[in-house]
Amino acid sequence: MDLQSLGWTPFFEAYFAPFREEGYGVGRVMVQHKDRYVLYSQKGELWAEVTGKFRHDAHGPQDFPAVGDWVVIKDRPGEDVVTIYAVLERKSKFSRKAAGAKTDEQVLAANVDVALLVSGLDHDFNLRRIERSLALAWDSGVKPVVVLNKVDLCANLDERIQEVESVARGTSVMSISAVQKRGLENLKSLLPTGTTGVLLGSSGVGKSTMANALLGTDKQEVKEVRIRDSQGRHTTVSRELLLLPSGGMIIDSPGIRELQLWGTGEGLTETFEDVEALAGQCRFNDCRHENEPDCAVKKALENGTLDESRWKSYLKLKREMHYLYLKQDQKAARIEKEKWKKLMRIPKLKNKNKFG
Ligand code: GDP
Ligand code: ZN
Repeated sequence: MDLQSLGWTPFFEAYFAPFREEGYGVGRVMVQHKDRYVLYSQKGELWAEVTGKFRHDAHGPQDFPAVGDWVVIKDRPGEDVVTIYAVLERKSKFSRKAAGAKTDEQVLAANVDVALLVSGLDHDFNLRRIERSLALAWDSGVKPVVVLNKVDLCANLDERIQEVESVARGTSVMSISAVQKRGLENLKSLLPTGTTGVLLGSSGVGKSTMANALLGTDKQEVKEVRIRDSQGRHTTVSRELLLLPSGGMIIDSPGIRELQLWGTGEGLTETFEDVEALAGQCRFNDCRHENEPDCAVKKALENGTLDESRWKSYLKLKREMHYLYLKQDQKAARIEKEKWKKLMRIPKLKNKNKFG
């Protein structure tokens, strides 16, 4: 396996360079299984574990490797398992609040290039949900594409596409039928060799059917990997980063399907550009859009140029973002400080050039 087709770019090379000099290797996380990982690497598929020191230095779940991460590794003499020393800087990430009341972040997928926001063109069609997933994608640093599936069940396609385009300004919208394999070439062209996509969308929209169509098979063997643990027992786990025969990769994991809001709020601005522009036209800078005179938002709601439900979903998202922001703030400052401390030290290796 060559690194380029696994998505290796100068971005990662820059962060890896000091490690390379010290004789470390690199791999990309295919799946996490309990406290172990399976990686793709130049040497094929490898089991990997983090060091005790890594565990000790971690501030929370967000510091551990996630599907799609590039990790710095080293062989263990006489063992099948390699050791993970560091996670390379992420180009993008999808995350959610970790379980429990804390606002710890859990990364569900890293280094994704394109988010395929899948919706069904059947009774499940929901503009508000599309809006929400767009905000999420922008926030993650990932380019979104809206994929309308089940075109075979849709009688008013043009109308639907228009509705979606009205909330997804500047985003491509494509329609396909995963079952009838219509529009698949367009889908594949979004994922050329070395790029990683993720399928997002609620249950039943056809993500598995799409994944199978892209893989050209629904055989379990393609998705499963068998590995031996330290006691010699075999375990079967499901691949979450999948290599497509057409070149690119997709991440299809259970966690990513239950995605919740997490981010900085920048995505909100991208998605609700029109709403924010309106709010900028109110007479008062600090207008709460309630009873203030010359409120552009109220006016637009009254004359129908701004949709009531669009306004409500904007307010709801904004409240959630604000809440998370307050919780995140303190923690972020501490993590940033530690991150720099950590970057300054790379452990030396005894046997160099193990990875050539
Ligand atoms: P997931 O939950 O998003 O992974 O959705 P699935 O791939 O399991 O699909 C849910 C249901 O929708 C299944 O019964 C599929 O056969 C059906 N389905 C998926 N894609 C299409 C499509 O393009 N057209 C039609 N008519 N049905 C589809
Ligand atoms: Zn106002």
